Order: sequence, then structure tokens, then C-alpha cells
Amino acid sequence: MAVQRVKILLSEDDVPKEFYNIAADLKTPLAPPLHPGTKEPVPPEAFYPLFPKEVVRQEYSTERFIPIPEEVREALLRSGRPMPLFRATRLEAHLKTPAKIYFKHEGMNPCGSHKPNTAIAQAYYNMKEGTDTIYTETGAGQWGTALAYSTMLFGLKCEVFMVRVSFDQKPYRKAMIETYGAKIHASPSPHTSFGKKVLAEKPDHTGSLGIAISEAIEKVATDPTHKSKYSLGSVLNHVMLHQTVIGQEVRQQLALADETPDYVIGCIGGGSNFAGISFPLIYDKMKGKNNAEFIAVEPESCPSTTKGKFEYDFGDTAGMTPLLKMYTLGKDYVPSAIHAGGLRYHGMAPTVSHLVADGMIKPVAYNQKEVFEAGVLFARTEGIIPAPESAHAIKATIDKALECKRKNEAKTIVFNLSGHGLLDLGGYQQYLDGKLA
Ligand SMILES: *Cc1c(COP(=O)(O)O)cnc(C)c1O
Repeated sequence: MAVQRVKILLSEDDVPKEFYNIAADLKTPLAPPLHPGTKEPVPPEAFYPLFPKEVVRQEYSTERFIPIPEEVREALLRSGRPMPLFRATRLEAHLKTPAKIYFKHEGMNPCGSHKPNTAIAQAYYNMKEGTDTIYTETGAGQWGTALAYSTMLFGLKCEVFMVRVSFDQKPYRKAMIETYGAKIHASPSPHTSFGKKVLAEKPDHTGSLGIAISEAIEKVATDPTHKSKYSLGSVLNHVMLHQTVIGQEVRQQLALADETPDYVIGCIGGGSNFAGISFPLIYDKMKGKNNAEFIAVEPESCPSTTKGKFEYDFGDTAGMTPLLKMYTLGKDYVPSAIHAGGLRYHGMAPTVSHLVADGMIKPVAYNQKEVFEAGVLFARTEGIIPAPESAHAIKATIDKALECKRKNEAKTIVFNLSGHGLLDLGGYQQYLDGKLA
């Protein structure tokens, strides 16, 4: 019997030298961010107090390819890129499916998720432009960890507001963030006036990404030294394009395996890991090089793209950010305390939303129990304990593989394993004990 290829590896030279910007290839232009008062488009300069100029330039850019600075590429290599593409033959055998299942393992870096891909780039541009401290929010803690790691690499200070429910569920994220030298607070916190206001109304508030974003932005806006900046780990255009290193590697790996994708699957919180794996392959589809279906998976408890409206809304809860046109559940939506903290966001990246509205991306939703069941099956076949967020993509992959079995079709499925679940074991324990809501 021929030995099947377990994983497809690239060399360091194959790590992309450019970010891919899908804004260059959309059929209709992206709707611009609007000022909440005047409803006029916000000019790029309005973002300069919050982000480095290069990041703002990328946010508005319609250039197809943006060169990756050598220092950023070096840090990407140091963080573990290129990442392997695995063939999930043990899962295939268990499901008895004719489908071929591949997964990109983005959990194989010091932080355990795809988030360093953009954290490294953002920390670098901040360092170049003289930022002293970066403030940010984090849901499940992966983003806070990635930014703490990346600011450490480039010698910046970092302060993180972490959604209370995850802060309590995942205490070791705090330890990681502090080990890298950053500061962390549970949000809503008593360190900002917005946090104080929320706590006064509801002292046991479990928090939300929208609230944590408001707190981080308030810190930057009220810093008298003007040397602080804000950083967002998802949603915005520049974050999506930084993540395309994932899909550009996958494209090369599929070519080495002599495969064309039929299904490309990823989970969506703000949309970045899905954009990362899918946008380069969507570009290929537009050029007639594949005919894949792109499936974005969200939790039933935070169904922004399957149940939300495609309209202008605030990115935060306090209503301090410009309005973004996106699928949204409304800025005041507080999702239930599911363990996939990275998927608890009321909105969705404008680029991903645009492609959902166009029919290029198909959204689906699953509930927490079936997602953990898929995560445990993955651990018991492939041996990897996935992040609960990534387990959403695994659930959709399993469903597609079973559909292939019913139809006897040997389709090629590729999903993004956005992170490992080794700091999410509390959720797994509850599932195994039958105590998961
Ligand atoms: C943050 C996170 C997500 C969700 O964020 P996106 O921007 O939608 O990718 C998914 N998986 C993991 C492991 C994460 O850390």
C-alpha cells in the first residue's frame, strides 16, 4: 500500500513577500466608513490618532499586492511560518468518506492561533512611527497574546482589555500576556469612564468585544502624550490582507499535492482567519483557476452573517468608532457566554460581508454542543485539540465530508485550523462532563 502524504511542507523562501488585497478585485467598491454624525465618508486622516499612517494607507488601499517589509517577514519566519498543510486521513477513514480533507495548521506558533500574522505587521508599523504603547481588546485572549508577543518583538508597551467572561474562563491567557510583558484588565473595567458606566449599570456584566474596544479606544483618545495607538485584531481591511499569507501558502501547498479545492472552510468571528485562507483562493476563482465554494462558519448564538442585517453600524458598543457597512446584530448585542470567545462579535469584516452579500461566500451556523462534539472527534482521530473557534470549521468540514459520502463524491475540502485549544480545556472539560449549555 502506498504511503499517503501526511503533510505538505514549504521552505522559508515560500513564505509570501506580499500581502494580497481583495479590495482590488471586488466587482463593486467597498462602502466607505461613515462619520456617525454627518454620515459623510471618513477621510483617512481621521484615523491617524488611532493607527499608524501605513496601517491607515493599507486600510484604504486598492492596490492588489502590498510588499511585506523584510523585518515583518523575518518575524513571521521566527513565529513558525510557513505552516504545514495536513491531510486528515485518520478523520477521513473514521468518516468513511471519499472526500479528501486538508487543513492548514495555524496553531503551530508560540501564541497558538493565526493572530500573530497581523499582530507582527501592526507592531512593526507602530514601532516605525514611534508609538510608545498599543492599547487593544481581546475576546478569548488569542489576540491579546499575539499582540503582547509582537510588541515584545518590536520593543513596544502593550495594554489589553479582555472580555470578562473569557478572563474568568481562561486564566492562563492572562499569565501568557503578562509573561510577554504586557498589562491586562478584565473588561468592563474601572480603568475607563465607559467601563465604569457599564459596571454602574450592571456590576456583574460578562463584557463583550464591543465594550472592550470602547475601553481601549478611550485610553488612546485620552492619552495626554499622544504616543499611544490602538490596534484591532480582526474586522478591518488591513487585518484581512495581513492574514492572506495563510491562503497564499495554501495555494502553493495544494499545487504541490496536485489538488484544486472544491470547498474552502473557516470559522468567522470578525472574519480574519477566514479571509486569510479564502481571499487568495477567491482571487484564483475569479481568474477561473478553481470553482470552489467558500463556507464561513459562525456560532448560532452570535449569527451576524446568517441572521444579521447588512447595514452601517458601529464597530464598538459605546458608539465611538466610524460606521462600517457590515453584517451586524446591532452594537448592543451581547452574545451568550459560549467558549468560542473569538466568535462573540456583533459585526463582520466589511470585505467578508461584501462577499457574503455578493454570494461568493456562503455562511452557516452551528450550536456549541455539536461544535465541541466535532472538536473531540478531531482530537480522537487527528490527535489535535482544536480551539473551540476552529472546531466550528471542523463541524462544517465533517458535514461536507458526510455529504460527499452520501453522494459518493471525492471532493477536496480545505479548512483552516485557526488555533489549538490547549488554553480552552475548561470548555472541553465541561463538554466531557455533560455540563455544557
Ligand atoms: C480570534 C480567533 C478567531 C476568530 O477571529 P477571526 O478574525 O474571525 O479569525 C478564530 N479562531 C481563533 C483560534 C482565534 O484566535
